[in-house]
Amino acid sequence: MSGIVCQVAAVLRACSSAVIVTHALPDGDAVGSSLGLALALERLGINVVFAGSGPLPEQYHFLPGQHLYVAGSGTHRVELVIYVDCASPDRVDGVRVEGDRVVNIDHHITNDGFGDVAFVDPSAPAAGEQVYRLLEPLGVALDEAIATCLYTALVSDTGWFTHENTTPGACRIAARLLEAGVRPDQVAWQLQGNRPLSALRLLGRALSSLEVREDGKLAVMQLGSEDLLECGALAEETDGIVNYGISLSGVELAVLLKEMPKGGVRASLRSRGRVDVAQLAAALGGGGHARAAGCTLSGPLESARETLVAAAAERVQSL
Ligand code: 5GP
Ligand code: MN
Repeated sequence: MSGIVCQVAAVLRACSSAVIVTHALPDGDAVGSSLGLALALERLGINVVFAGSGPLPEQYHFLPGQHLYVAGSGTHRVELVIYVDCASPDRVDGVRVEGDRVVNIDHHITNDGFGDVAFVDPSAPAAGEQVYRLLEPLGVALDEAIATCLYTALVSDTGWFTHENTTPGACRIAARLLEAGVRPDQVAWQLQGNRPLSALRLLGRALSSLEVREDGKLAVMQLGSEDLLECGALAEETDGIVNYGISLSGVELAVLLKEMPKGGVRASLRSRGRVDVAQLAAALGGGGHARAAGCTLSGPLESARETLVAAAAERVQSL
């Protein structure tokens, strides 16, 4: 077992109170790995909460550990602040945390290793795998509840074991999670077969906006705040839409621009592999992974689109 895993486990075990935070607009890895870790720390008798600014996205409400989630903009004063799946502290939205020590558990390549103890492993397919590796040194037995959270984390970040980050290790862990009682059909149904009508209406709007440029290598979609409003959709329902852009034959780089209700424009970037979108996003103040990254630009939508399309076009032209 690697030194850093034991070191993090020792710091976690020694604390009496902790708050777990993750990135804004949390995805399945963010929620699954955070809830899985929260349940593990609860088993150890640690006074732990998982905190975020708003309610968790609807599709994650089936996950065990909901009782440990606290929504709101208040300040959490605890012994240990644990950032999970969070490339930098400013990715946390609307929750203030104060602690004696900071632990950083993440797999984003753009994570600079902030905090007092940093377990940053860009080779991990999901933060959920890192949490899985902590269980043994923590002395917490894997049970169905924790396994369901970590399985959700793994399938979310590996695209159901289809992305390049699908390692033999990830599949071995998935096998262990199934042995612990995970029902893969039920997880798949909750995550993929339980969507609100507003999400499909929103997808329709995004697909109608699709523009293909640069000899078919760049796909751009956009959603204005009126699209969300008219579809009755929440910002989280834009999740996954960018993947339709990268599914188009010949596209190397797909972009989805989303005008946020509170201002600013979020960009989701996906690459087929030849363009490093983590670099592209970092150049615009964001970050992420080589094939999936994002950033926030200032509005209005049209000027954000110009900025992003110019930077993206430059990358695909040089291929
Ligand atoms: P998504 O497009 O699904 O929102 O994000 C894709 C990936 O990029 C995720 O791993 C996410 O954490 C990361 N990411 C998205 N936006 C940002 C950002 O503004 N900063 C950083 N550092 N990472 C981001
Ligand atoms: Mn992740």
